Amino acid sequence: MTDFTYRLAQKRHLATTLPGPRSAEIAARRKNFVAAGVGSSVPVYAVDADGGVIVDADGNSLIDLGAGIAVTSVGASNPAVAAAVAEQAQRFTHTCFMVTPYEGYVRVAEELAALTPGSHEKRSVLFNSGAEAVENAIKIARLATGRTAVVAFDHAYHGRTNLTMALTAKSMPYKAHFGPFAPEVYRMPASYPYRDESGLTGEQAALRAITQIEKQIGADSVAAIIYEPIQGEGGFIVPAPGFLPTLVAWAKDNGVLFIADEVQTGFARTGAWFASEHEGVVPDLITLAKGIAGGMPLAAVTGRADLMDSVHAGGLGGTYGGNPVACAAALATIDTMREWDLPARARQIENSVKPRLEAFAKEVGVIGEVRGRGAMLAIEMVRPGTTEPDPELTKAVAAEALSQGVIILTCGTYGNVIRLLPPLVIGDDLLDEALTVLEDAIRAHTRR
Ligand SMILES: *Cc1c(COP(=O)(O)O)cnc(C)c1O
Repeated sequence: MTDFTYRLAQKRHLATTLPGPRSAEIAARRKNFVAAGVGSSVPVYAVDADGGVIVDADGNSLIDLGAGIAVTSVGASNPAVAAAVAEQAQRFTHTCFMVTPYEGYVRVAEELAALTPGSHEKRSVLFNSGAEAVENAIKIARLATGRTAVVAFDHAYHGRTNLTMALTAKSMPYKAHFGPFAPEVYRMPASYPYRDESGLTGEQAALRAITQIEKQIGADSVAAIIYEPIQGEGGFIVPAPGFLPTLVAWAKDNGVLFIADEVQTGFARTGAWFASEHEGVVPDLITLAKGIAGGMPLAAVTGRADLMDSVHAGGLGGTYGGNPVACAAALATIDTMREWDLPARARQIENSVKPRLEAFAKEVGVIGEVRGRGAMLAIEMVRPGTTEPDPELTKAVAAEALSQGVIILTCGTYGNVIRLLPPLVIGDDLLDEALTVLEDAIRAHTRR
């Protein structure tokens, strides 16, 4: 393993109960000025972060198993990223690529062409957020195919804008009362091995969806199918082997584009540069964001040159898309991932954490499944002896872990999945300590 070096002490330290007085004071002001619709998973306010820790306004040092939702894979203050940002900010923060272009954007596009799956010719367009990338992938797919229907799946999460809300599966909190939603979006059954009828193969799960697509929409009306190769917000659901290859082969045969939404799974997170590689599928279009730029807002659609270049000049863009500071951050992030071989680090995290959690699952009887790839791992919490989701236990465990100084996120269609997304540069000792806290929290709440 690379010997990571850190600026902040890599230790869990509680100076106060959480939230401390300073965080509580900020929270009180927030209530009066920040819209209530924005939630925060933890009640403390960050002042510093590095490697595997976040330090709050009261001097508490918390172990970070969320990485800002799979964003700060190289750390939240990676020195190479910080230097690249500072250097670019001193030259220019913005010109608008649509007005006065700059090389950083072109270099990011070159990197994306080299790193994403498939050896075909590719083009990229840069944006600010994952949702914006998804919206644009759909625009491109519709124009390139001359078709309008888009197929999304159960448990999908693709964002919070109008079109991406339509693509997202879960009503609360993402969609409820925010409609009407964009038309021509159809939802099909996904592959959820833990909850699908037992024995259902990946091929069968794909055929189940394909049959419905053909019967309900008609293949020749479908522009694209969009899928997260590991469904993120939906519960870190790894599709059954064969599911995606079968679906993608059908798409190819029917002139339907395959869009891989790798906003969460991308950039070394799952032990490969992109999770599509685990499935042996090559997307026509791939959407990217989160881990791409070490915490700076940047997103991309990378895809087949013929599809991308089918769009008329001026059809794609945005004032801030591919901001030069964000591009500099992305280039430093990608260099760091390559130099430190962070895909290998993610595999190492899987190899140490997964067996440990699997053994622990046998001990407690409330863990239905341990799953995931690389450093995108999850445990699905159920009521003992059943597959019935236990969202209350999940919430209680996350709260208990937080009170002990470990930031743990939850997810899942049923709200019963604890997800582990540590920065890839977290040290082994700190990760071990966080898992011990998590296991103790589960033990404490299953002795009820
Ligand atoms: C987070 C996420 C998005 C949305 O990205 P934003 O940057 O929050 O707009 C889209 N797709 C997937 C798979 C995500 O995890």
